[in-house]
Amino acid sequence: MPVPRLGPIPVRAVYDIPLRTRFRGLTVRDGVLLRGAAGWGEVSPFWDYDAPESAAWLQAGLEAAEQGWPEPVRSSVPVNVTVPAVGPEQAARIVAASGGCTTAKVKVAEPGQSLAEEQERLEAVRDSLGTAGKVRIDANAGWDLETAVTRLRHLDRAAGELEYAEQPCASVADLAALRRRTHVPIAADESIRRAADPLAVRRAEAADVVVLKVQPLGGVRACLRLAEEVGLPVVVSSALESSVGIAAGLALAAALPELPYACGLATVHLFERDTVPDPLLPVDGQLAVRRPVPTRAALDAVAAPPELTDRWRRRLTEMAGHLAVVS
Ligand SMILES: [Mg+2]
Repeated sequence: MPVPRLGPIPVRAVYDIPLRTRFRGLTVRDGVLLRGAAGWGEVSPFWDYDAPESAAWLQAGLEAAEQGWPEPVRSSVPVNVTVPAVGPEQAARIVAASGGCTTAKVKVAEPGQSLAEEQERLEAVRDSLGTAGKVRIDANAGWDLETAVTRLRHLDRAAGELEYAEQPCASVADLAALRRRTHVPIAADESIRRAADPLAVRRAEAADVVVLKVQPLGGVRACLRLAEEVGLPVVVSSALESSVGIAAGLALAAALPELPYACGLATVHLFERDTVPDPLLPVDGQLAVRRPVPTRAALDAVAAPPELTDRWRRRLTEMAGHLAVVS
């Protein structure tokens, strides 16, 4: 049963960190760190999310700070390198500098880019990974059904086989129709985390894999429940958080009964600095399951200016007003 929150939100810090590469249209990332009896939690909904949608992010941060997470069943988690919509040389460099990742997620369907640019990027990634590596793409709902059918055929060839295509189309109906017209497995991301009914994907048999993100889905336990209900393999991905937020994703990946795919949790390198002295960066393509702790020095180096801190405090109050609707 959802319980309305009565106590104060234990805010400890507000961070403001430049990104190394423009991502999701952002050049900086900011968010709130909470600290409670169970440790540190992150609350960092994007600014274009309204208070009701952001309440799930607060729920996740409170779970981390006040409740902690279920016991892990593994001590490390394989992760993918994420390749933004960059040119082929840069794509190859990103893969080579990934900390040993053998799976790459390549962004496609970037507005203004051609099929040829996507093919070149995928070929460069395949060359850099070698034949044993795995290549997946993420279109962020950028294609209509017919475009997706055509693009998948070409991009599957350019990649030397795609592991899966993440959210090629926006609607569940289009994902389901596409899945019947391609041999490339389909992963659902936006159709799960921004949908009123995440189980629609299962009913429509619209995906082979689901992508779960801890903050948008309201916490590690909420994700574990959803994973069980959906009954499909899960890829845990970040919402572009600092290492405090990534630790929650890692806790989810570590607690899932099965983890057949590399997770999208290697995103801390996109930040110029971090909230902890020992960031969650991959070694040999894996993240060790741990929970790094912010230090005063690390937090001072990323502290938000007073106006931004005030803006977050106001926003948290608004979010808290919607907590009761999050289970
Ligand atoms: Mg995605």
